[in-house]
Amino acid sequence: MNGGAALNGDKVRPGIGQTGFRQAAPSAAAGEGTPAVLAPADAAVLDTVAGMLRGLPVALLTGAGLSTDSGIPDYRGPSAAPRQPLTYQEFMGDPDLRRRYWARNHLGWAHMQRAEPNSGHYAAADLERAGVLTGIITQNVDRLHQAAGAQNVVDLHGRFDQIVCTDCGNSYSREFLAVVLTELNPGFLEAVEAAGGVSAAPDADAELESELLIASFNVARCPLCGGLLKPDFVFFGENVPRDRVERSFHMLDRAGALVVAGSSLTVMSGLRFVKKAAKDGKPVIIINRGETRGDPQATVKLEAGVGESLVRLVELLAPEAPQPRTGAGTL
Ligand SMILES: [Zn+2]
Repeated sequence: MNGGAALNGDKVRPGIGQTGFRQAAPSAAAGEGTPAVLAPADAAVLDTVAGMLRGLPVALLTGAGLSTDSGIPDYRGPSAAPRQPLTYQEFMGDPDLRRRYWARNHLGWAHMQRAEPNSGHYAAADLERAGVLTGIITQNVDRLHQAAGAQNVVDLHGRFDQIVCTDCGNSYSREFLAVVLTELNPGFLEAVEAAGGVSAAPDADAELESELLIASFNVARCPLCGGLLKPDFVFFGENVPRDRVERSFHMLDRAGALVVAGSSLTVMSGLRFVKKAAKDGKPVIIINRGETRGDPQATVKLEAGVGESLVRLVELLAPEAPQPRTGAGTL
């Protein structure tokens, strides 16, 4: 079976899951009304890539670099601050760390919920609709592929809009939890806002100077069994569920090529697909600003913006697709 061995001891570092949510620092690259333009050299590389991909079913693997233009921080990109991720073991075993986690998560959830797909997400959905893709494997938990209209997506590291009970296994919407947490912590959001908010400081945990507020944060329990609730993320130190891995490998097996967009492939959970594609002799195209762990296996490595590159691939591979679009998608 594909990937069985890789599951054992595989460590993953999902972007959002490890810390709770943090608001992105204002990004010069992001922005509506300022569509990024491909450099001529990069456009030429994409012409070559399109020539390689034409007629081939393609598996698309996406990471944080795709969602930065939607205002969601990339924890491992060139500008990301180094930080210590909260592990699954810490979350499960340390009530104080768990309290801090949920407090930050509560503050940042609304921001995540407001995020909208960018041109890259729409381009991926267009490629799918045009029959180019066997599927999308994403390391992002933001659900923006689905918001842009993509149908066949594996949320490898989970999804931000769901929480699960680690005892009874029941799942709940994050929206429901927001109501519960607000009831359990009246005035919390306002108090943090008064203390300077979370958006002002690009750096991290210090942004919540109000340790007292955090220390008194009330964490919700499972309404059904009283058990411990956890975001539906794969934490560092936790394995990606086997069915998601198998579905992903199935997408890859049916593909003639793999395109990686916006992932540094830091963790084996994503890197293993590159290794498998390369082992099977399939072209591997990596579009990412900065080095990736998959670079040695890449047939083509392109250091360019993910959104504009995917838009260009739509123009080359699926020219009938309507382009470009902005604004809210449909779920
Ligand atoms: Zn429960």
